[in-house]
Amino acid sequence: MQTIQIDRLNKHFGKKQVLFDINLSFERNQMVALIGPSGSGKSTLLRHVNGLNIAAEGDIRINGLALLSKGRLSKNVRQQRAKIGFIFQQFNLVNRLSVIDNVLIGALGRLPKWRAYSRTFTEAEKRQALLCLERVGLVDLALQRASTLSGGQQQRVAIAKTLMQQADIILADEPIASLDPESAKIVMNTLQNIHQEDGKTVIVTLHQVDYARRYCPRTVALKQGVVQFDDATTLLSNAFLNQLY
Ligand code: ADP
Ligand code: MG
Repeated sequence: MQTIQIDRLNKHFGKKQVLFDINLSFERNQMVALIGPSGSGKSTLLRHVNGLNIAAEGDIRINGLALLSKGRLSKNVRQQRAKIGFIFQQFNLVNRLSVIDNVLIGALGRLPKWRAYSRTFTEAEKRQALLCLERVGLVDLALQRASTLSGGQQQRVAIAKTLMQQADIILADEPIASLDPESAKIVMNTLQNIHQEDGKTVIVTLHQVDYARRYCPRTVALKQGVVQFDDATTLLSNAFLNQLY
């Protein structure tokens, strides 16, 4: 069963084409690295899977349902996005809120803003948020302000938020690019645990190929908007990587 199916995706920004005829499918329960030099289109590709970018040409299906079809976004984009967690390089937490409140935001799904703001959380949701924080090893920090946490801890809160959201796909765009090696390892271990224990599909863009080798059985490599490699990570050769970067 395919979780994500991308067919003939071509993306232009103005006159500049940045993705060329992308055809990729991701099965349920895979952990995949997306690598390639800066500007190769990794973020743009991930953002299409979440409907944040829209290409004029191509089809994307999520769990069998059209998200993008012939350049048009599905009417059900909100429901489909609810199943997809997105993790950013800069964590994207609300700094002035507590850690647990940041996780609870995950429960809002994709409510329109005017409804989200008037929403109060139930005791059951608060218990659930604490369980999500326990999964990432941060339950003790639940009541602290998000801004007091280290980068690695903030990224784990962002992961807990996707658990609260009950996303079955996690798209992580350079989740460890701003972290020191020790924090990067903890964040990657956390993503891997969630992938393995909950069977989530994880696509993670990475700068360092070492992390792809350590954590991701499959790698997709992009260069100038073209897929150059899509295979088992163990098959990445140094010769290939030298011409990629
Ligand atoms: P990567 O994530 O691999 O570094 P990006 O997907 O961010 O690459 O960018 C791919 C190309 O698309 C780059 O040339 C970038 O300048 C261009 N690009 C990305 N976003 C926009 C945008 N919103 N408007 C115009 N050009 C963009
Ligand atoms: Mg990027």
